[in-house]
Amino acid sequence: MKSDLKNKLAIVTGATRGIGRAIASLLIEKGANVIGTGTAVKERQSLGCDYYPIDFTDDVATKKFIQFVKNKEPDILINNAGINKIAKFSEVDLQDFEMIQRINITIPFLLCQAVIPSMQNKGWGRIVNISSIFGKISKQYRSAYSASKFALDGLTVSLAAEVGKYGILANCVAPGFIDTELTRNILGENGMKQMVELIPMGRLGSVEEVAVFVVWLASSENTYINGQNIAIDGGFTRV
Ligand code: NAP
Repeated sequence: MKSDLKNKLAIVTGATRGIGRAIASLLIEKGANVIGTGTAVKERQSLGCDYYPIDFTDDVATKKFIQFVKNKEPDILINNAGINKIAKFSEVDLQDFEMIQRINITIPFLLCQAVIPSMQNKGWGRIVNISSIFGKISKQYRSAYSASKFALDGLTVSLAAEVGKYGILANCVAPGFIDTELTRNILGENGMKQMVELIPMGRLGSVEEVAVFVVWLASSENTYINGQNIAIDGGFTRV
């Protein structure tokens, strides 16, 4: 990859762990200036980039963060922070449902709104929204999560239709079963073993395998992929 990420400023939400951390690390390696977020108030020096502590459940702090992002005029936005809680449809708790929508769709919406004006002025911008295969297909107990991730896809398609002509490319990436804390907590060890048997490649994906594609999509190498929702799932959703 050309090192065209030099002098580009990227915001990566949920950069403290898992997929977000791998994306932030690779962006840094490719020369971008990165501001990563996480919920812990303490400075995260180990991230190797600027850190903004923000819990998106806090309304006042979120408003401040949105203003901060607007002022920074980033070139790249990676909406990665996301949560999931599985439950039988009839037992989905309203508070959990609303919380999942807030973190997985409302916050990406607000952040996209915050970055578009400056990207439009510059005539260049890249937005990558981290969705999920459960934003393309679904299964039982994923109603709240799938609602949020299908919504993220819809938002991205419409946004891409509006801003493509200004040099802003917006896409979703839909990871399959990636070996992270979120996956381990949701599936448990047994669930992970069963899942592996259903994946054509016979293994979970790694955070690095997601990061390499996300960072490419966010670079100038990507000149014509816009409004897509691309699965990184070892073939899971195609069989
Ligand atoms: P993860 O390891 O659980 O990390 C989640 C990140 O989001 C953390 O940095 C966390 O910050 C942040 N976050 C959580 N709640 C937050 C809140 N209330 N306010 C602000 N930040 C918050 O997740 P992951 O597995 O890497 O997943 C990353 C993204 O990929 C998510 O959007 C997820 O839906 C999607 N995805 C993951 C998989 C998978 O297999 N792992 C599959 C499909 C899609 P702190 O740690 O600082 O709290």
